[in-house]
Amino acid sequence: MENLYDVVVVGGGVVGSAVARELSRYQLKICVLEKELDVCNGVSGRNTGLLHSGILSGDQPVRTECCIEGNAEFDQVAKELDVPFKRCGKLIVGFGEEEKQCLQQLYQHGLECGIPGIRMIDADEIKAIEPNADGDTGIYVPTAGILCPYTYTIALAENAAQNGVEYHFDQKVTAISRTPGGEYEIQTENGMWRSRWVVNCAGLFAYQISVMLGFEAYVPKRVKGEYEILDKKAGKFLSVPIYPAPGKAGDCDIHITPTVDGNILVGPTLEDVDETIDYSATQEKIDQLMEQGARLFPRHVKREYFIRNYAGIFPYVADPGIQERVDFQIQAREDIPHAVNVVGISTPGLTSALPIARRVVEKVKEQEELRPNEAFNPVRKGIVRFAEQTDEEKMRLIEEDPDYGEIYCRCECVTKAEIKQAVHNILGVSTVSGIKYRTRATMGRCQGGYCETRLTAMIEKELQQDVKDILLNQKGAYMFVGKVK
Ligand SMILES: Cc1cc2nc3c(=O)[nH]c(=O)nc-3n(C[C@H](O)[C@H](O)[C@H](O)COP(=O)(O)OP(=O)(O)OC[C@H]3O[C@@H](n4cnc5c(N)ncnc54)[C@H](O)[C@@H]3O)c2cc1C
Repeated sequence: MENLYDVVVVGGGVVGSAVARELSRYQLKICVLEKELDVCNGVSGRNTGLLHSGILSGDQPVRTECCIEGNAEFDQVAKELDVPFKRCGKLIVGFGEEEKQCLQQLYQHGLECGIPGIRMIDADEIKAIEPNADGDTGIYVPTAGILCPYTYTIALAENAAQNGVEYHFDQKVTAISRTPGGEYEIQTENGMWRSRWVVNCAGLFAYQISVMLGFEAYVPKRVKGEYEILDKKAGKFLSVPIYPAPGKAGDCDIHITPTVDGNILVGPTLEDVDETIDYSATQEKIDQLMEQGARLFPRHVKREYFIRNYAGIFPYVADPGIQERVDFQIQAREDIPHAVNVVGISTPGLTSALPIARRVVEKVKEQEELRPNEAFNPVRKGIVRFAEQTDEEKMRLIEEDPDYGEIYCRCECVTKAEIKQAVHNILGVSTVSGIKYRTRATMGRCQGGYCETRLTAMIEKELQQDVKDILLNQKGAYMFVGKVK
């Protein structure tokens, strides 16, 4: 039967893509239904990109376990998936007696959770680890690291696709029912899909899919965080992320994080928001970021380094009975056969994505025997980044393919060859942001002023798209209305 799958994964963010990748280790026909036009348009493309250690995961055992497990394995994962990653460690710093006590409690909690290598440090040691950081007391967390969140999400999705998983974009799931024969019928805005299994990985909207499948009607809650991105000129002054002592909810206030690509992120601000997905920036938060950022990283959080801002929203869910924030939920129920419900993946879902995925696979295995896919290949190669090569390697690349000799994005030194490879990505993503996330073109100081039209020209030529149909990132976000000459 057409469109009959063994497993449909709803949502193609980092969790859904990790689930798809882990399930592709078995002989299963799998597809991912994603409402957006790419895999990193949800929470997974809008976060800090920190590989958390687990020290800040609070008293939520699944969240803590998944985080510690995901952290421990990440050197191997980054190597397999060709994802840039630095295990740089992290500082959590405090000012004054009250914050010192808070840090001591956090340190004890970290020891109880088994976070490897953590230690309390004083002002001198803070300076020795990062001369540009300030603080009276601190915790040094050596296992923390930094990675690019969208590169990781794309890498998981591409590896899943290489191993046979189909990705279908612009497929917002609107209803799910079960036939008398036991198959699921999954209605999207653009079609009907059938599957023996459904895995809910819909992030901010997982609570809706939960109800469609017959699981609990969780109360959705949302937290918005705004960030500023600082120029690479400031990036060279920071080697480790600096976090302030956590507040009452266990979340850390505005922090300073170097990105794996050499910028600095200031943020996020954290505020509870309603169900509207509003990623806009506010002057109030920009001022707050500048002021609080300068407290942790004085001298270098300056307006002259500001490139742009962005925001992310993470979901958490409250128990329908007691209305309290619940742990990560990875559920299967006897009365809802062949369904796994992944809800409440707040943070650190990026760090925890593969451990969550393995727990999903275990739930599937509890209900049916899975046969290994002998052809499964865990290795995925990304696009070779010209800017990161030695002079000899650059010469060799240009000899092999002269398109490496033509720079399309001046700020980030991205070549025509890289743009062309990105346009022909295995997932079939054809938006301008899709190229940006795969190459870093438009992410520099000029924010696409020079290269954006060159990217659209490449999409037009390589994919034979009418220029009026080229989209920035989502449905309706057209780049142009027509040609002037
Ligand atoms: C401000 C902030 C900072 C963070 N920092 C970190 C960090 O440093 N480290 C870390 O580990 N974690 C961090 N996180 C958390 C992390 O980003 C998330 O936990 C993780 O990205 C969740 O991934 P996901 O796949 O569940 O969600 P998403 O990426 O949102 O994926 C869900 C997908 O489902 C799709 N979808 C939704 N509804 C439907 C539907 N009806 N039909 C089809 N598709 C649908 C969405 O379009 C989306 O693509 C942070 C989050 C935020 C907001």
